Amino acid sequence: MMPRFRFAPSPTGSPHVGTLHTALFSWGLARALGGDVILRIDDTDASRNRAEDVQAMIDALHWLGLDWDEGPDIGGDCGPYVQSHRRERHAAVAALLLERGAAYVDDSAETRQKPIRLRMPSEGVTIFDDALRGSITFDNANLPDPIIVRGDGSPLYHLANAADDHDMGITHVVRGDDWISSTPIQIAIFRALDWPLPVWVHLPLILNKERRKLSKRDPEGGYLVDDFRNAGYLPQALFNYLLLLGWSPDGEQEIVSKWDVYKQFTIDRLSASAPIFDWGKLNWLNRHYLRQYSDEDLAGLIRPILEEAYGAMPVSAEWLVQLTRTIRDELVTLQDAVDSAEWAFDPPPLPNDAGQLELAAPHAPAILMQLIAELAAVVILDAATASSILNGLRRQFRQQHDLNARAVLIPIRVALTGKLEGPPLHEIMGLLGKQRCLDRLAASLRHR
Ligand code: GLU
Repeated sequence: MMPRFRFAPSPTGSPHVGTLHTALFSWGLARALGGDVILRIDDTDASRNRAEDVQAMIDALHWLGLDWDEGPDIGGDCGPYVQSHRRERHAAVAALLLERGAAYVDDSAETRQKPIRLRMPSEGVTIFDDALRGSITFDNANLPDPIIVRGDGSPLYHLANAADDHDMGITHVVRGDDWISSTPIQIAIFRALDWPLPVWVHLPLILNKERRKLSKRDPEGGYLVDDFRNAGYLPQALFNYLLLLGWSPDGEQEIVSKWDVYKQFTIDRLSASAPIFDWGKLNWLNRHYLRQYSDEDLAGLIRPILEEAYGAMPVSAEWLVQLTRTIRDELVTLQDAVDSAEWAFDPPPLPNDAGQLELAAPHAPAILMQLIAELAAVVILDAATASSILNGLRRQFRQQHDLNARAVLIPIRVALTGKLEGPPLHEIMGLLGKQRCLDRLAASLRHR
């Protein structure tokens, strides 16, 4: 039988990285087995579901690079793929359960319209074999009869999921381990209807470094997919990173691609212990994937981020590519370009106290004035010209005043960029051009 996996997110807010992780693992296991992937929107809790969240979920899954064979956006033979559109079928399954005596109308309920409860076995044990964790046993005496249809006729999660998983021919249910306790209920439904059981794979939830559930309040950052996107993480990096949270590829390889998933994303390589979210590792991967881009392509990714921070940029494509070349080694995320390139936009950042101190050094005015004089004589200031001017200045101040290179260059750097550190000065000067260099040098002389 063709393996069929699904991801079944509930669209109850902005998508979370934990949801992507579960979807990715379901997708990976399916693809490695050559199976199909079905996207189903689990929206039984109508009060908490919103249409825009469904679209946001689909976008987030696509952004990560996942694909599926059937789903609400592409259709398929087992649709509809939105649970709230399958209510008639859920009602029919509830009727069947009632008919077989596996469910009953709860007359003791205090509501006017009575809910339907599933009749759970009252003695013995329910055992199921989780493909990742092995055998899990529940004492039936501890399992109360759950409501499967509310008094108003709306189905609850257990009923809807069991029915949809069956109807869609799902062979493998991959989901977070917070759903383990619902498995005996779903098993009871499958058994009552003589449906074949799927294989269950319950994945451990990702923890933060305090070993707690990921929380919006973690100081390292949020965990919404939008948080990663807005911070300038690349989808390739997050894809790679999330795969490593619970999967051990061959040879402790850390850079993994879709092809590695196809070849070796098997259950025996998955870990049943909870992975810890490690920002350092994600950052390392993001840098790795940033480095793969050419200057031109990286400039294309950076442009909207700089425009957002500094307004529309009336600059040539060539200038932006040069700026990208100059700052790219500093970037961990795309968003870092905002700080790294701050000096390239007007007004430049003001120097902090340490910077002011450098500008107040005894020789600083002479250095800046000499540079102004030299710049005034050039027609076009490019990086090569800037480099030869700076070399001349260094030589002159070494011979005449015994100043080392740092003492000569630091006041210039502070005057031009407001910073004590940054990319090579001649590249900065080439990017700023003659007039902006002159303006900034003059301004810092005035403000001393
Ligand atoms: N809809 C559930 C969720 O959003 C998934 C339940 C399941 O996979 O069975 O986490």
